[in-house]
Amino acid sequence: MSDVQMGRELLGETAIRDKVAQLGRQISADYRGQELLVVGVLKGAVIFAADLVRQITVPVYLDFIAVSSYGKATRTSGVVRILKDLEESIAGVHVLLVEDIADTGLTLHYLRENLLARGPRSLKLCALLDKPDCRRVEVPLDYVGFQIPDQFVVGYGLDFDGRFRNLPAVHLLSREAEKK
Ligand code: 5GP
Repeated sequence: MSDVQMGRELLGETAIRDKVAQLGRQISADYRGQELLVVGVLKGAVIFAADLVRQITVPVYLDFIAVSSYGKATRTSGVVRILKDLEESIAGVHVLLVEDIADTGLTLHYLRENLLARGPRSLKLCALLDKPDCRRVEVPLDYVGFQIPDQFVVGYGLDFDGRFRNLPAVHLLSREAEKK
């Protein structure tokens, strides 16, 4: 068994629920009268995307894309690779890309360029969490849940070595665990 421990709670269930509802209202207003394809980035954004789409009142289609991730390390490799692509063309479609967290920005930057090249009618970016101090490349975030400090977090979809995704709240990872 791993001795990795989750640290203190950073964002509680109620705060997350309220924020997701607020984002859903904003997105519903912005896309009023239109249809929207929500693209969740696997696996981290799956729980956020599942909750968010249920707060959106315009017609929503849902798809997922998977990119290479950190694995055991908590720092980005800077290399992004598509592991699972979208099922259908997004040409002429309003697309909202939903990510768990913007850290260096490399993943969202890569996905933004990649999706824009497919000719969507529009493309907006949504991240539940944003670590602005960590940015290595600028990405235009249209919807952000919470700005957080430069600390590794787990829960609500976010993992450490595959664990903790099922926690209903967002927690810090203990310092001991981060050094591993
Ligand atoms: P970026 O490409 O912006 O550096 O990182 C994006 C990805 O890195 C996220 O989708 C997520 O998988 C991972 N990541 C960045 N920061 C954290 C963090 O604090 N906790 C966890 N669990 N993953 C993170």
